[in-house]
Amino acid sequence: MLAVMKEAPEPGLALKEAPEPEPGFGEVLVKINYASVCGTDSLIYNWSPWAAGRMKPPVIVGHEFAGEIVENGPGTSGMRPGTRVSAESHLFCGRCLQCRTGKPEICRQLKILGVDRDGVFAQYAAIPEKNLWVNHSDIPDQIATLQEPLGNAVDTLLAEDVTGKRILITGAGPIGLMCAALARACGAARVIVSDPNEYRLSLAEAMGADIVLNPKVTPLRGPVLTATAGDGVDVLLEVSGSKGALLDSLPLVTPGGRVSLLGIFRGEAPIALTETVIFRKLRIYGITGRGIFSTWQTLSRLLSSKRLDISKLVTHEFPLEDFRKGFELMESGRCGKVLFRTNG
Ligand code: NAD
Ligand code: ZN
Repeated sequence: MLAVMKEAPEPGLALKEAPEPEPGFGEVLVKINYASVCGTDSLIYNWSPWAAGRMKPPVIVGHEFAGEIVENGPGTSGMRPGTRVSAESHLFCGRCLQCRTGKPEICRQLKILGVDRDGVFAQYAAIPEKNLWVNHSDIPDQIATLQEPLGNAVDTLLAEDVTGKRILITGAGPIGLMCAALARACGAARVIVSDPNEYRLSLAEAMGADIVLNPKVTPLRGPVLTATAGDGVDVLLEVSGSKGALLDSLPLVTPGGRVSLLGIFRGEAPIALTETVIFRKLRIYGITGRGIFSTWQTLSRLLSSKRLDISKLVTHEFPLEDFRKGFELMESGRCGKVLFRTNG
């Protein structure tokens, strides 16, 4: 089968002929129809310090997909071949304190598909059955592959209720854009999105943002206070990983407001905790991964009922053979989600 691999501990990826995987105990062989590119895949492509410190090549990369069951390995329940599935990419142990108290997304032995073991930028993949999610018949594969990152957006947005709330989203990458569409679907009163990338801001408008702001052109403070009658926003979703974005936007959260932090910061972010957070009684949530499988259930229902439409987020699609074009686009920032067609 064809597979995109990190072959050696250095930048780049290669398209290779690889043996079709054999499902091990508790695993199912899945034919991959569509896979999508995540920022994590770009970090692996560029061999970032994080990737270099974690991965042990050779590894087939990729963790977002939609496909169908081909074969059940030993110790599985015998799901019907042809069943359409995606999967939770975080492989949890099921035994640690966090797993046993209902928080497998922070499993102490967490392994990631396409990072710590072979992933899904390939024609077939062996996936633990307990990680599979059966896709709703009304959700096409091109959207079903986006459910995994959409789960990040669900936890980021819905850490608390958002009905009637004014929301500022810093970062209009794929997850920030999903947050914008979700916020509309979940009844937010005002959705403001900031990003220095104009292409991404136009996507934010298409995804339902009421106001888009380029912090390189206009400081956020004026327009955010105007849009909120001087109060500031009730909710801040930080999904850029930019320290500047966090430091500029925290003071724009109204006292008593809520903050969700999903963006990954390089190094430390110096926050004046006493004045900005404590005396203003902010609630800050660290968000990692997605609730397993609570977020999958929420987003599957929102997508299949058409309450939520994220189809405009998919801006490019390539056959797996052209994977480099996808990574170049990710690098340029002139894209929403990039999909790979893995079987024809
Ligand atoms: P992305 O890199 O595609 O998007 C980030 C966006 O932030 C870009 O469009 C960029 O132009 C924008 N940005 C940069 N500086 C900004 C600023 N000062 N103000 C506003 N926007 C700014 O990433 P993504 O895939 O959408 O993911 C969003 C963030 O979430 C990333 O930091 C990613 O590493 C992180 N992430 C975290 C988890 C987790 O489990 N915590 C999971 C997935 C992604
Ligand atoms: Zn665990």
